[in-house]
Amino acid sequence: MIPSEFEYHRPGSIDAALAVLQEHGDDARVMAGGHSLIPMMKLRMADVPHLIDLQSIAELKGIAVDGGTVTIGAMTTQHELITNDDLVRAAPIMREAALLIADPQVRYVGTIGGNVANGDPGNDMPGLMQCLDATFTLQGPDGTREVQARDFYEAAYMTDREDDEILTEISFAVPKGGQAYEKQKRKIGDYATAAAAVILDKVDGKVASASIAMTNLSDTPVFSADAAAALVGTDCGADAMADAVTAMLGDIDPTEDNRGPVEFKKHVAGVILRRAIERAWSRA
Ligand code: FAD
Repeated sequence: MIPSEFEYHRPGSIDAALAVLQEHGDDARVMAGGHSLIPMMKLRMADVPHLIDLQSIAELKGIAVDGGTVTIGAMTTQHELITNDDLVRAAPIMREAALLIADPQVRYVGTIGGNVANGDPGNDMPGLMQCLDATFTLQGPDGTREVQARDFYEAAYMTDREDDEILTEISFAVPKGGQAYEKQKRKIGDYATAAAAVILDKVDGKVASASIAMTNLSDTPVFSADAAAALVGTDCGADAMADAVTAMLGDIDPTEDNRGPVEFKKHVAGVILRRAIERAWSRA
């Protein structure tokens, strides 16, 4: 598996990267860790005559927790999400989810920006970003704009990002309450058969607010407002959890593939969501 010939660019700033994107239009594509893009190029499923490596752009890196807001540069690796103490304190669900992505070798190089920009329904970060109600910052020739993670995903590999825009950073408010990321996969290093991100805030023994998103159960991540609503105001008991699972099953749309038939995936989704709710509630 050898990719077709391409020219390699390594700009040192966002502006320089945007200039190469502008110059070559559809023939150019940015690369972050390359752990999704390079396999696609080797399989000849992606033809990229001009590859723009973002590795040397320092302004795309780093994690800041400031004034109740978490900001993560697009080129921050999944390994850095796991090892950054400020982030682990502010949003432990990030570490819990990142540890379930692939294996250490992939996580040392794969980035949060590449994971969310890719648009692969199997990627874990997009659903988590929807659960956290994250904001994506995109920079293009006409300036900078912000898009909510909940509005970003349109179909498999199709997002709101324009071809000439670069995702520069991701931000979200420090979440309140208990958090849990639960994932079922066939083996270490596999993508999810089903995964659930859950955040629950508890006040006086009741669910004060809830956020739930599911991964790899549709052609986009699924933010299930109805599943969350089924828990709010309850004591998070068995009936409320059953209602949340029923609501979630109404929102997902899995297809049969080598991870199993549709009914199996729905069953796994229910089990995974229940586990994530139970764990988030125990931490709330
Ligand atoms: P790249 O591969 O470089 O880019 C991916 C796409 O995003 C490309 O289209 C690229 O043009 C675009 N892009 C990248 N950065 C930007 C940017 N800043 N602005 C605009 N567009 C951008 N992922 C999971 O979530 N869960 C898993 O379980 C999992 N298992 C894996 C197992 C293996 C064996 C491998 C090889 C990968 C696995 N991955 C998994 C994918 C891995 O996490 C990738 O690293 C990640 O999805 C893409 O990140 P990247 O930095 O490598 O991006």
